[in-house]
Amino acid sequence: MSSAASLLQGQGSHSTAAPVRLPLEVLKRRAGQRRHMLAVQGVSYTLITSVLLAYCYAGTVPIIIPSAYFLSGIGLVSVFVVLSEAHFNDRFEDHYLTIFQVAGHVALQLCFLLAAPQIGFAFLSVVFLIFGFGALRMTSRQAVTSWTLTMIGLAPIFLFSSTPIGLPITTQTERVAAMLSFVLTIGQCAFVGLYGSTMRKMLYDRSSELKAAYKRIEELAELDELTGASNRRCIMRMLEEEIARATRSGSPCSIALIDLDYFKRINDAYGHPTGDEVLRTFSITMFANIRSVDRFGRYGGEEFLLVLPDMDAGQAMRALDRSRAIIAELDWSAFSPGMQVTMSAGVATLNSNETSDTFLARADSALYAAKAQGRNRITRA
Ligand code: GH3
Ligand code: MG
Ligand code: MG
Repeated sequence: MSSAASLLQGQGSHSTAAPVRLPLEVLKRRAGQRRHMLAVQGVSYTLITSVLLAYCYAGTVPIIIPSAYFLSGIGLVSVFVVLSEAHFNDRFEDHYLTIFQVAGHVALQLCFLLAAPQIGFAFLSVVFLIFGFGALRMTSRQAVTSWTLTMIGLAPIFLFSSTPIGLPITTQTERVAAMLSFVLTIGQCAFVGLYGSTMRKMLYDRSSELKAAYKRIEELAELDELTGASNRRCIMRMLEEEIARATRSGSPCSIALIDLDYFKRINDAYGHPTGDEVLRTFSITMFANIRSVDRFGRYGGEEFLLVLPDMDAGQAMRALDRSRAIIAELDWSAFSPGMQVTMSAGVATLNSNETSDTFLARADSALYAAKAQGRNRITRA
């Protein structure tokens, strides 16, 4: 997992209230993310120290400044490492302790700004970096608090002291150090920016994945597992929708209750799994031969409901008879030599002000008639 990805995981709201007890796996992942972040901070202090060493080499600051800066920076990071490894952070919802980190690191920069004002710009640029990094996780309230604290820290330095804050570029080494300071800070700011955009991209991808999964769940909840046709609940809802639409528009609407003939015999002769395959193949064949506006669902067992919007009785009879012929003429011998499958259907066309109950009951009577008349036929209500 990328650093951004791993750091993103487990982000929640940032109130400091104790969260609900999290599973061990989540706590482990969070600790890993914090380790990652603290390691980045350690690298950052090392890079800034290299700039200070350049200033020391130029004679601008004594060696005590880079040494103290490195030790106190790493020391501060270590405090957060210890807290993190002791799982103190897990007591807080913002397990990164962002506000404390920002406050600690900004305070450190201000101390060194006072200690070595002649290279004050080097420390001020780090404040930008701290805020850039902190802003990735801070809530607006935390951002305002840290900004206010920083302002309170900066105000006396800028307003009530006459200490000049410098960016010395007199000698060649100083120029190199100043350039290093800017280049490194800009580089780290770019890293923070890239990190933020990676997080945004990840969030976007996650939300797309979630949407797709949700859509799939919705589809699965509406489909019959065996045949891939709509399940009973779904086809009944579609029937109600089509009845309402036909009633509103005055257009015709027909339905067909389809039942496979002597299906029990197929199960008995070839086994239940073959019976399942027959149901699947029947369903696929039906789908291949209906219009996209038609609705096809499993009504129960080996009985299916086909809803035919905008079709009057004659059109529906012709469509069903075509399907009947296709099923009867299909080469079922691939399942077992000599296998024959036929269907019967009862067709009904919606009467004005008719409910789905009577509509279905008429189709069912027609189906019963088709069976009684010898099967492999379509009968009209
Ligand atoms: P007919 O409709 O022509 O009167 O005869 P039939 O033998 O098809 O009638 P019946 O409704 O009595 O039998 C339906 C059979 O369908 C009984 C049941 O075991 C079988 N069946 C129902 N659902 C499934 C299924 O999901 N898989 C398989 N393999 N068989 C099923
Ligand atoms: Mg049957
Ligand atoms: Mg049946």
